[in-house]
Amino acid sequence: TEENFDAIVIGAGMAGNAAAYTMSSRGMKVLQLERGEYPGSKNVQGAIMYADMLEKILPDFRDDAPLERHLVEQRFWMMDDSSHIGMQYRSDDFNESRPNRYTVIRAQFDKWFSRKVREAGATLLCETTVTELVRDPKGRVIGVRTDRAGDVILADVVVLAEGVNGLLGTRAGLRDTPKPETVALAVKEMHFLAEEVIDQRFGLKANEGCVIEAVGTISRNMAGLAFLYTNKESISIGIGCLVSEFAATMESPYDLLEKFKTHPSVKPLIAGSEVKEYAAHLIPEGGYKAIPQLFGDGWVVVGDAAQLNNAVHREGSNLAMTSGRIAGEAIVQIKNRKKPMVKEHLSLYKSMLDNSFVIKDLRKYKDMPALLHTNSRNFFTTYPKLLSQAAQNFVRVDGTPKIDKERATTATFIKARSRWGLFGDAIRLARAWR
Ligand code: FAD
Repeated sequence: TEENFDAIVIGAGMAGNAAAYTMSSRGMKVLQLERGEYPGSKNVQGAIMYADMLEKILPDFRDDAPLERHLVEQRFWMMDDSSHIGMQYRSDDFNESRPNRYTVIRAQFDKWFSRKVREAGATLLCETTVTELVRDPKGRVIGVRTDRAGDVILADVVVLAEGVNGLLGTRAGLRDTPKPETVALAVKEMHFLAEEVIDQRFGLKANEGCVIEAVGTISRNMAGLAFLYTNKESISIGIGCLVSEFAATMESPYDLLEKFKTHPSVKPLIAGSEVKEYAAHLIPEGGYKAIPQLFGDGWVVVGDAAQLNNAVHREGSNLAMTSGRIAGEAIVQIKNRKKPMVKEHLSLYKSMLDNSFVIKDLRKYKDMPALLHTNSRNFFTTYPKLLSQAAQNFVRVDGTPKIDKERATTATFIKARSRWGLFGDAIRLARAWR
């Protein structure tokens, strides 16, 4: 049997749900295929969810979405083995009527998002893995084959929202497999604690949330970042480093997470908690230069599968939602103009995406992945360590004249990096940041 849809969406994560909702709510006949038992069952995120991007899809999401806490405080830590020095920003302005960022638990959030997609009219099939893209003799994608009974399902256009591995698109020759130096492997645990205990430990009240992100000796010279996010009754804690660096150092991600959890600055925050969940997942970190071809005859690719992830700001879900929504809008426009879903017309998706924050942000940081990868030891271990020592030297009162303390601090920086090295690092960072 063959069935014909206006669009098939592969994957029911952030990007897939955004695309499926956008198209089905505008009257298109959409089939969404998800290999997990239910949407979200396979998905891993920190997770911070950005309201603005969801509002553009579901303006009233706050009425019933499963939201954990809204964020009022952000801490950024640079650590050595016994200390941390950091920046902290907290504002009561974030206690607004429509808060800007929330923590969410993806298993619950994706289920909710998927319900909205189905209410908008899309058909969802779970526990269904797409095994192959089906093409016509000219190479245009015309449908998919799944692991169910081998039937071909036809559609005018296929939206690939299959996440970071993107096996399907790679197998079909639409793009290369992500390179080990452009993806991070992250591990994450959920630590359960009473709501009041979390409130007390982080100085929070009524649904307020706090985020800690940390770099330093915890990543053992690799380019990596650890995180701690407060949910209502749990704390998500994790760490991720580039796959290429795990391969080179043979470090174990769980050892790094253990090191972060037992760091004296972190241990008291999670003391007495019950660990209930464990997950590992990849994050695309190659940035602008790793973005593959985004459209072709009969197909578009969105979200992590298109490597749309801003590693500098640790944003992924919002780029996924936005690229999914924009792809959906472009497809609706093409359909309304009664044009075929071929490369020439689907390029509209790319030009709309180019005009959005998604590509503008990734282009801004296009040189950051290479810089951080080639200088990981300096930026992720040497500087955090030096800054931490400098802070200690500054605050410790031991009878040493201040002028001598300053000279000693300067000397440690020069010893570690040399004058030229310090100058070069500053210039390189400033250039890549521009
Ligand atoms: P996914 O959410 O991965 O969804 C892909 C879906 O496709 C899955 O449901 C999968 O089961 C399905 N699928 C795959 N192949 C097939 C197939 N062949 N057939 C059928 N279905 C298939 N981003 C943020 O914005 N904030 C954060 O705090 C944050 N923290 C993160 C922390 C960690 C540890 C990790 C790993 C990522 C984090 N991210 C964060 C990134 C964010 O999770 C991703 O950018 C986002 O989930 C991408 O959405 P997506 O829909 O493209 O992919």
